[in-house]
Amino acid sequence: MTKNAALKPGVLYIIATPIGNLADLSGRMRDTMQQVDVLYAEDTRHTGKLCREMGINPHLRSLHDHNEAGRVQEVLDRLRSDEAVGLVSDAGTPLISDPGYRIVAACHKASIAVSPVPGPSAVIAALSVCGLPTDRFSFFGFLPARSLARRELLTEIAGVASTSVFFESKHRLLECLNDICEVVGEDRRICIARELSKTFETILHGTVGELLPQVRENHHWQKGEFVLVLDGAQQVKSEFSAQIQSLLLAIAKEAAPKKAVSIVAAHTGLDKKLLYDWLVAQKR
Ligand code: SAM
Repeated sequence: MTKNAALKPGVLYIIATPIGNLADLSGRMRDTMQQVDVLYAEDTRHTGKLCREMGINPHLRSLHDHNEAGRVQEVLDRLRSDEAVGLVSDAGTPLISDPGYRIVAACHKASIAVSPVPGPSAVIAALSVCGLPTDRFSFFGFLPARSLARRELLTEIAGVASTSVFFESKHRLLECLNDICEVVGEDRRICIARELSKTFETILHGTVGELLPQVRENHHWQKGEFVLVLDGAQQVKSEFSAQIQSLLLAIAKEAAPKKAVSIVAAHTGLDKKLLYDWLVAQKR
C-alpha cells in the first residue's frame, strides 16, 4: 500500500531533480520523493544529502548502471505489490544519459504505469538559451572519449540539418572543440552552456572559430559541467533541387570539385559557395 493517497499505488514515478540550484526543486518533486514507499537513486549518498537538505527521509535503494539489470525484478515485484516507487538520478531528468531505461521498458512490458514528475534537464535548459533553431534537434549524449570515434561521430553530426546537442566533460572540452573546428568547420555556430543554474553559469555563443580561442585562453571556462549545442548543417535552398544535386554529383565524378561547381553554377546561376559546401558535405 502507498503511504499517501496522493500517489497512486503500483506506479513508477520518474522524478527529475535540480541540475545545480536547489531552488529549482518543486513541491511535487519533494512530495513524491517523500511519499513513495521506496526511492531508487543513482547514488544513495548523493540523494541522501539532497533529501536531508529538503528535510525528508525516504527509504533509499541504489539503482545505477552497474546494478540496474539486477534490480528490474525487485522493482517489478514492489510495483506488483502496489507500492509506489520513485526513481531519481544524481541530477536532472532520469534516463537522459542516466540509468532507468531497463526499468521503464520492463514496466511497459508488464503493463505497469510509469509517470513522470517533470523538472530540470541540462539538455532542455541549454536549448532554451542557445539562440539556435530548436524546432528540431538531435541529442547525442556524451561524445566518445577517444578522438578517432569522436571525429567519426562528428563527421555524421556535421551533415545533420537540425540542431545537435551533446554533453562534454571538462577534461575533454578543448580537445572536443578542436575536433569540432576541424571536422565540422570553424564557421559553424555553437553554444557552450556551462554550469547552468549555478553561481558561475556561462553561456557562450558564436562560431566555433570564435569560441575555441576564447575558451583556450580562459581557464575558468574549462571548469564545471557543459552542454554543447551545435547549429545544423546549412539547409539546401529550395531552388537547389534534387535534379541539380544529382547533376552536380555526376559531374563531380568526372571532374575536380571546383570544376564541377563552376559548370553547375554557370548553368544554374546558383551560388558557387553553396554548391561547393554541399558537395564537400556529401563527400564527407
Ligand atoms: N539526466 C541529466 C539531465 O537531465 O540533465 C544529465 C545527466 S548526464 C550524466 C550529466 C551531464 O549533463 C554533465 O556531465 C554535463 O555535461 C551535463 N550537465 C548536468 N548539469 C549541468 C549543468 N548544470 N550545466 C551544464 N551541463 C550540465
